[in-house]
Amino acid sequence: MTKDGQKVYQHGTLALLVPGLFDGTMKLAELLAHGDTGIGTATGLNGEMIVLDGTPYLVQANGQVKTLSAETMIPFATVHFDQPQVEFAAQGLSMQALGKQILAKYPYHNIFFAVKIVGKFKHMQTRAVEGQVKPYPTLVEVANKQAVFEEADSQGTVVGYFAPELFQGMAAAGYHLHYLNNAKKMGGHILGFEIDQAQVYLQPFATIEQHLPVDNQEFMEHQADLESMGQQIKSAEEAD
Ligand SMILES: [Zn+2]
Repeated sequence: MTKDGQKVYQHGTLALLVPGLFDGTMKLAELLAHGDTGIGTATGLNGEMIVLDGTPYLVQANGQVKTLSAETMIPFATVHFDQPQVEFAAQGLSMQALGKQILAKYPYHNIFFAVKIVGKFKHMQTRAVEGQVKPYPTLVEVANKQAVFEEADSQGTVVGYFAPELFQGMAAAGYHLHYLNNAKKMGGHILGFEIDQAQVYLQPFATIEQHLPVDNQEFMEHQADLESMGQQIKSAEEAD
């Protein structure tokens, strides 16, 4: 397979997590054939996944970080081959300020792009959701039970994506970023940060490959409640 840096690959959708379809539907080995960098979650929403240089790490709600085996099944993940197009240095910026600056400087608001930030953070705040067992609760109920982690003077890597508002449901509209510190002891789904000194890398995508779990009966038979979905995604992604 050629490593097409202009393509982002996603298995599952954020929308299927909203009503609680948390069963893993793809092996990590298969997912990682489509990218060496990315984010996702594990079966039962058991933590926050971040893929760095081809290695999948899971930050669990108890704060522990582990690497995942190739056999691990995942319900939702997005990956790409790390080939950044844009690089710049950033200092003293919050997550919100950096996000705005990127969209003001680059004409990327209608496309998916990857964000990678490597460096030092004055402050990093993350969360990890707690693993669930069947019958699964909804995404909002799980997000309310998350554990929150904070680290000052943290050195590490941020990986994630920007999705245009148009794709709310397929992904989380706006930025969706995960973190792992260099010691691989702290990370998760980012709630906020302040950059001390870091390099920011952006990778715009021309192609989105959306893979769906066609072998999962529950998914195939599910009728999505689109009216409440957008609100539930906002509430779950921004919960703190
Ligand atoms: Zn996340």
